[in-house]
Amino acid sequence: MSRTYNFSAGPAALPEPVLRRARDEMLEWGKARASVMEVSHRGKDFIALAQKAEGDLRTLMGIPQNYKVLFLQGGATQHFAQIPMNFARRDQGVDYVVTGHWSEKAAKEAKPLAQVRIAASGAESKFTAIPPRAQWQLDADAAYLHYTPNETIHGVEFHDIPDAGGAPLIADMSSNILSRPVDVSKFGVIYAGAQKNIGASGLVVMIVREDMLARCPKDIPKIFNYAEHAANESMLNTPNTFGWYLAGLVFEWLLEQGGVAAIAQRNLAKADLLYGYIDNSGFYKNPVEKSARSWMNVPFTLPREELDAAFLKEAESAGLMALKGHRAVGGMRASLYNAMPLEGVQTLVDFMKDFATRNS
Ligand SMILES: *Cc1c(COP(=O)(O)O)cnc(C)c1O
Repeated sequence: MSRTYNFSAGPAALPEPVLRRARDEMLEWGKARASVMEVSHRGKDFIALAQKAEGDLRTLMGIPQNYKVLFLQGGATQHFAQIPMNFARRDQGVDYVVTGHWSEKAAKEAKPLAQVRIAASGAESKFTAIPPRAQWQLDADAAYLHYTPNETIHGVEFHDIPDAGGAPLIADMSSNILSRPVDVSKFGVIYAGAQKNIGASGLVVMIVREDMLARCPKDIPKIFNYAEHAANESMLNTPNTFGWYLAGLVFEWLLEQGGVAAIAQRNLAKADLLYGYIDNSGFYKNPVEKSARSWMNVPFTLPREELDAAFLKEAESAGLMALKGHRAVGGMRASLYNAMPLEGVQTLVDFMKDFATRNS
């Protein structure tokens, strides 16, 4: 058996040099004479690792000084609930823009904790387009505006940062963080589960403006309170040390690649190659409006559903893994996160051409 091109939507492919280094350091990490998993998170070696990872992320994303970086747990889903708990009062309005599965879920999880308003929804288009900004109905008093810059399942991505109309903007960047440059200063909070572009599942990276932390209520358990996590350098309890270590390796790898601007060029080239082929194939189809197509997740269908099983089986034999679409959308999905090289996408396109020729 050997490694393949892995198009999984998440947990997703990691850069091979990162996996090799983690393997090489598995038994003895640095001077620790133990695995990184076996040492105290309060020891000076781990604290140095934690600070370096944060520093590298700050460099990669250009994070301003008035933002804290937190390394949390619970997956993005836990924070769907924790965000309203920290940043809104129960009687306060919170606006959600729903553009697919994940933003819908974020809004649902917030419901018991604040007055959730759906400011805009792409449901009418079956989540194949972003509702035009002019149609959004924002509440001037909303505690925040939440949106999902990249919908991992529907393959819908915002290609600019929406104007939140005064409320702090909160973004679930789980599936496109670090894929292209973003102006962090436009956000109140950015958060991301790690298993797409950062590392191992379970870890959550949060970038939060300091004035937002002043809102965190004192009457919630400390473990849910972001201000407490920030005051304790994300070590209120034992952090996900191995996840933090892996994230640090991925950040170093990204810096070696030339940073986020360089990886963005590659990501655009990958997306252009695949969409360009799909649109010209006369065989495959992507349902998403061109201006909202995701660089990271590309759903596509074959002309007849009966072909799906053969496509997947033959793709696997050709070394192309995890192309099955999400059950909510059907068909196929190719995820093209940072760790996917252009050659992987070229191999996929070559396979798709061959399959189309044989099945037309
Ligand atoms: C994967 C994903 C999630 C869910 O992450 P968990 O770690 O499973 O909680 C949430 N939002 C987006 C945009 C995702 O891609």
